[in-house]
Formats: sequence, structure tokens, C-alpha cells
Amino acid sequence: MTRFIFVTGGVVSSLGKGLASASLAALLQARGYSVRLRKLDPYLNVDPGTMSPLQHGEVFVTDDGAETDLDLGHYERFTGTPSTRTDNVTTGKIYQTVIERERRGDYLGATVQVIPHVTDAIKEFARAGLENEDFVICEIGGTVGDIESLPFLEAIRQMGNELTPDRALFVHVTLLPYISAAGELKTKPTQHSVKELLGLGIRPDILLCRSDIEITQAERRKIALFCNVNPENVIPALNVDTIYAVPQAYHAEGLDVQVLKHFRLEHEAEPDLGRWEKIVNTIRAPEGEVKIAVVGKYTAVADAYKSLAEALTHGGIANGVKVKMEWMEAEVFEEPDAVHNLEGVHGILVPGGFGERGSEGKIKSVSFARERRVPFFGICFGMQMAVIESARSLAGIEGAGSTEFGPCDEPVVGLMTEWVKGNQRETRDSEADLGGTMRLGSYDCAIAPGSQLAQIYGRNHIVERHRHRYEVNVNYRDRLEQAGLRFAGMSPDGRLPEMVELPGHPWFIGVQFHPELKSKPFDPHPLFASFIKAAIEQSRLV
Ligand code: GLN
Repeated sequence: MTRFIFVTGGVVSSLGKGLASASLAALLQARGYSVRLRKLDPYLNVDPGTMSPLQHGEVFVTDDGAETDLDLGHYERFTGTPSTRTDNVTTGKIYQTVIERERRGDYLGATVQVIPHVTDAIKEFARAGLENEDFVICEIGGTVGDIESLPFLEAIRQMGNELTPDRALFVHVTLLPYISAAGELKTKPTQHSVKELLGLGIRPDILLCRSDIEITQAERRKIALFCNVNPENVIPALNVDTIYAVPQAYHAEGLDVQVLKHFRLEHEAEPDLGRWEKIVNTIRAPEGEVKIAVVGKYTAVADAYKSLAEALTHGGIANGVKVKMEWMEAEVFEEPDAVHNLEGVHGILVPGGFGERGSEGKIKSVSFARERRVPFFGICFGMQMAVIESARSLAGIEGAGSTEFGPCDEPVVGLMTEWVKGNQRETRDSEADLGGTMRLGSYDCAIAPGSQLAQIYGRNHIVERHRHRYEVNVNYRDRLEQAGLRFAGMSPDGRLPEMVELPGHPWFIGVQFHPELKSKPFDPHPLFASFIKAAIEQSRLV
């Protein structure tokens, strides 16, 4: 029997609903239950793929090639369960489905309306593709009170009604601001937010109260009284020093027990949180620190490289060290002598990116890493820039560039016009739409036996997640290999370069895919573990 837990947010955005949902899932999993997490986003984009990371944070890519909200990254990191394209839906996608049905005539002459047609489509999505999981946690994006989220709230209200209370639970994540002049936590915004929910016909069962300071019993009772919930179900959610401590913190406050009590499930036994304790202990007592420079374009927004930051942290966990990330705007390196900013870092990473701005700065940082023998990791766009750098500096191809920035004499990186997906051939031309048309999702890669990469992975065949439109031009392979850059990973048909390495350099690797998307705190990605290990060695040299 599948039970649904609906997570809404109140008062302000950025309360960490995604982490709360992921942590609750981890707690249920630690008690032996199977859990699926889903995100319902109220914006009108069909998916976040066309949104700038500066607007909405990183775009997370699933194995089956969906471009999704970054919360799905938290879901995977906390549960280890790969998400699929059915786990994230937006208003845009819902309306696209409804309008397609209308055009086909599926509604048989009915007037198409938000209720029931749009809400039905939302409910269909929430139930689609389930495999008899014990729990499905559906997080509703946005904040209660937004116009955009109304159809989603109406849909989950209906679901709650149809499922009956023993199969549905509503969690509302809210904020208790601390007003220093009064010296107290304020419950009024929470009361208003719950009132708004009640007005929409949703009675929250559990309030997860974010707060900077301890919430007293008296305050819990007051919230319970005004918001019509059981005092035991007013759960304090205080800030913690690492996100991986959230499951333990919520358990200590009784979240999982209250959820199980609601569903009348056994709750006496303790969950097995050993995995989380180990991770948190390692993070809290590191044996040293390494400094990694991330040279990118969206470095001003913390969420723009969410999975990358987490994967670097996981690399630190694998080696028992703290990873200090220095976010650097690539454009800075286009100024003369700016590379001195990279002095003293123990590793340089150029992440994924789009467009010409900052590309020459990224290339300069690659030169620095190569010449100064600092561990270098290029991911997707970062690999493309590394190959252009090698082409110019090692192979003497002066005009080397990428057609992403316009026509180019030496297109060392060019538009991918054709590739194989399963048994099918995918084709694109320069006029194609931008949304959902990249080479997306999991693809195989064959690793050259005997390469450094084969050693790092410990095997010769891997599957990694992709999101790119351009590729390293295989026609330059021979010239680049002669110049010393090894094409250590290729698509199985040998046409798409997937990984490069520079023999003789302590650690210089570029990958066309996004390994950060698959790293887990309890299972750090081998490339990140190895990169941080190399950075530790570098830290002993400088
Ligand atoms: N802009 C590059 C491309 O489309 C790289 C994409 C990326 O880094 N995700 O190929």
C-alpha cells in the first residue's frame, strides 16, 4: 500500500523543503521502507533546462535524460535512489499535456478548466509510474499564498480526500523568525500561513518549524493551539552545521516517529542511522583541508553548482579532509596577471557552462594548472576548454576554438549533429529548439585499458550522465594525442570523445559528462575521491 506525504512551504521561500523531504525519506528508508520523492514545481517553464542557473540554481539531469529541479539532486544524494523523468513536473508541463489533449479532442467537447482538468493531470502525475513504494513524498515548490501554486494545492487537497487520512499526510515547513528587540521567536507568520492552507481545505498534520534558536515547549504548545495540530507534531527544525546532519536532527525531534504514528505503523524500534553518523563524524573531524578553486560563470549563486559542491565535499569525506571551495569568476582571469589568484590552491576545477563569456579566462586557468602541475578537473564545458587549451598550447593549433561561440577556423569543439541513443540515431541541426534537445542523460563510455582513468574507475566501461550540445571534434584526435593529450574515454562507437587525460601531469582530467550528479555522501564518486586525493598530495608540496 502506497502512502503519500505532501510537503508544502510557508512564510518565505528557501526554507529547505527539498532537504527536509530528502531527510524524511532517508529516515523512512533507515527503517526499511521504500520511498519515492517527487517535486511539483509551479513555474511555467516546461522544465528548468532553459532557465539560467542564476535564476533557479543548477539543472539536475536524471538517467533517463530529464532536466529537472535541483531538489532531485538532494533526493538522490539522501536516498541513493535514482530519480526519473516522472519525478519532476511543472505547471508548464501540466498545461502542455492538457492542451495537447484538448487539441486531440480527448475532452469530448467539455470546457477545459483548471478544476478538474488541470488538477486531474497533476494527480495523474503524482501517481504515475509507481512501483508499490511504501511512501511517496511529493514536495510542492513555491510558498503557500503564491498564485502559481493554487492548482497544485487543490490537487493535493483532493488527493488527501480520496486517499483518506491513513494514506495521506500533510507536512508544512514554516519559519519562526527571531525578533531580537522582543527577544523571542514569533509564531504569527506560521499562524497566517497555516490559516491560508486551511482556507484552501488542507489541514497540515505536521509543522516542521525552521528556526535559528531553540523552540521552547511553551512556543510549541502555542503553535499547536493556534494551528490546530497536536503539540507533538510541531517539530523544531533548527539549523545544523552540515546538511548531512539533518536526518539525525529530525529524528532527534521525533519527525519519523510522528509520521509513523500518523499512519499507524510500528515506531518503537530505532532506525539504523549508522551511515549518517559516519558521514557526519567524518565531516566534523577532518584530518586537514584542501583548497579547490572552481573557475566558473555562475559563482555568485550558491545553488548554481549545487551537485558539484556536494560531490567535492564527498571527495573530502572519502579522504577524511575538509574541502574548502574558492568560487572564482572566470572573467577575472582575462585580466593580465590575474592567474596569481590561483597561487596556493591545491586543485583547479572548471565546471560545466554555456556561452562565450568567461571562456578565455577558463582557458587561462587550465594553462596555469597544466604548467604548474596543479591537479586539474574539467567537467563538460571544462573539458572542452581544456582540450582547446591543449590544442593551442601543445599541438600548436592557434585558432582552436568552439563553434558554440560562432564560426571558427579550427573547430576543435563543434556542434554535435548525430549520436546513438539505445538503438536509435538522434540528429540535430543548428536551427533546433534549445529546450530538451541536448544529449541528455545516461550514456556509455569505454575507457582505454591501462589509462589513469581506468585505474581511477577500476573498470573499463562506465555509464555517466550527460548534458551537452557540443563535443570535442574527433577529427582532431590524432593531432592532440601526438601532442600528448590522451583520449582515454570514448563513446562505444568511438565517435564521441568522453574523457581526456594528460600523461606525465599528476592529475589532469577532463570529462564530457557530469560525474557530480551521481556522487553520494555514502558513495563518493571515484573521480572526486581521486581528485581530492591528488589535491592532498599537492598540499604537501606547496
Ligand atoms: N556548452 C557546452 C555544450 O553544450 C557544455 C555544456 C555543459 O557544460 N553542460 O556542449
